[in-house]
Amino acid sequence: MSDTIFGKIIRREIPATIVYEDDDILGFKDIAPQAPVHVLFIPKHDAIPTLDDARPEHAQLLGRLMLAAADYARREGLAQDGYRVVMNCREHAGQTVFHVHLHLLAGAPLGHFGA
Ligand code: 5GP
Repeated sequence: MSDTIFGKIIRREIPATIVYEDDDILGFKDIAPQAPVHVLFIPKHDAIPTLDDARPEHAQLLGRLMLAAADYARREGLAQDGYRVVMNCREHAGQTVFHVHLHLLAGAPLGHFGA
């Protein structure tokens, strides 16, 4: 189990606004939103630190993170206007929590990104 801040959220040791949950994935609002809608999707049982640590056996879980975000966006009426999903990996991407997570950003036109 993850000993990051996200592990504490999974174990309900600290509060979070949970908006999605299934057997393997938790979705909750980012504490410092970068868009009108900013939700993080994380694996509940397999705390892969970064995408670089993912292995072929994680393929299904990583795919399900994407589908969870897409499902949430569709249900919240965000899909037609569109949204962005982002996964930061390590320093140059600004990763701060080493429990792999997918950001869902939506609710307004998003600027282009990159260096
Ligand atoms: P990263 O930069 O690692 O890709 O994203 C980590 C995200 O976790 C950041 O957007 C940050 O705002 C969010 N975050 C960090 N601590 C907490 C917390 O305690 N609760 C919630 N809901 N989000 C957090």
